[in-house]
Amino acid sequence: LLTIDGLWKNYRGHSVLRGIDLVVEPHEVVCLIGASGSGKSTLLRCVNLLETVDDGTIHLDGEEITDVRTDPDTVRKRMGIVFQSFNLFPHMTVLDNITLAPRKAHGVGRGEAERQARDLLARFGLADKATAYPDQLSGGQQQRAAIIRALATRPRLMLLDEVTSALDPALVKEVLGIIRELKEGGMTMILTTHEMGFCREIADTVCFLDGGVLLERGTPEQIFTDPREPRTREFLQSVI
Ligand code: ATP
Ligand code: MG
Repeated sequence: LLTIDGLWKNYRGHSVLRGIDLVVEPHEVVCLIGASGSGKSTLLRCVNLLETVDDGTIHLDGEEITDVRTDPDTVRKRMGIVFQSFNLFPHMTVLDNITLAPRKAHGVGRGEAERQARDLLARFGLADKATAYPDQLSGGQQQRAAIIRALATRPRLMLLDEVTSALDPALVKEVLGIIRELKEGGMTMILTTHEMGFCREIADTVCFLDGGVLLERGTPEQIFTDPREPRTREFLQSVI
């Protein structure tokens, strides 16, 4: 579904991604781990074309999206991205937040968009919050609404960057629950997390980034019980 080949990203002469190669299969859940500053968010931002890349290519469904002739907006329509800080529009109700992109970017009619949004809200336990404003929701509910908003355009791929790290531990669970449900539904995802327990549970493939290099990848079992690289071992010892 997604193929990244030899991806380099530099900021002012400093390379933050150094020749990343990664293939993501349909329905696969890839979890990026690594120290702060290792390049996890930058990699997600490159995939979503929020950053230009300095070398290498990214293909989505066989199409090269890093080609200069590609329209970033049409590529982004096929992906959902959610960040650590909930970025719901504060002046809009939950329902309007969720229906905005389907209506404006995908040309779905208001009635149909609202019906789909209410289905999603019901599925993820927020049916009673449709007409609430973001500041009337808990942090966990806001993050769930943000994930639902990203789902509303029926993306091929979900990119989730530390979606639980701004939350109180008690609220983390409800957001992890929604991600677990997405996996059960077959959603392809690339996510970053500092929750190693969750990573181990949800990932099909764990990738360890170290200074912009994808140093090691494997099943959660391999990475967490028998990492090959000393750097991976050190990192895991420091966070678990
Ligand atoms: P964290 O776990 O803290 O979220 P990360 O692995 O997501 O870290 P990135 O945010 O991808 O790390 O950052 C990788 C490197 O790129 C860091 O050294 C960071 O300072 C640098 N960087 C990121 N964005 C920019 C930018 N817009 N301009 C300059 N440097 C940047
Ligand atoms: Mg980050």
